[in-house]
Amino acid sequence: MPRSSEDSDRLAAVKAKLAAGTLRAGPHHRAAFGKGSGRHCDACERPITVEDVEVTADFADGQSLCLHGACFESWRGETPRRI
Ligand SMILES: [Zn+2]
Repeated sequence: MPRSSEDSDRLAAVKAKLAAGTLRAGPHHRAAFGKGSGRHCDACERPITVEDVEVTADFADGQSLCLHGACFESWRGETPRRI
């Protein structure tokens, strides 16, 4: 199945923000999945509605990112993993 243009836009946004340093790179400490709360996604900057999955990725230093489920997958794929 080809991925939608929305998915490639999302991935492009994640890559651009990581390159610009405006989106924190991983690895994250843990992730919590829940229903969207209307917050804006740190990756694509669109609101995360109740129909979306909202992921809160926490880092060991106490900071966190709020992302759509799909944005989280893109972000996770683009950031280094803990070895
Ligand atoms: Zn998003």
